[in-house]
Amino acid sequence: MTIQLYHNIWQYQHSSIAPWPRYLLRCGCCDNRIEIYYADDGLEIGGVNGTLEDWREILLPLLRTRKNKRNRCG
Ligand SMILES: [Zn+2]
Repeated sequence: MTIQLYHNIWQYQHSSIAPWPRYLLRCGCCDNRIEIYYADDGLEIGGVNGTLEDWREILLPLLRTRKNKRNRCG
């Protein structure tokens, strides 16, 4: 996969500043990145907070598409 994934569980366990464990996703070709915080009942993706149910409805149809794998950035 070209997305670079950093799973920041350490900061979560050792700092009171980070309330949720975090995924940091970095684009494979540039400096774009997105942060995903997750908890048992919700996700915050790119600063947008939603329940797991919300994200499932939005993301699952997208993840099932197979059309074009073209890279949109750069
Ligand atoms: Zn990129």
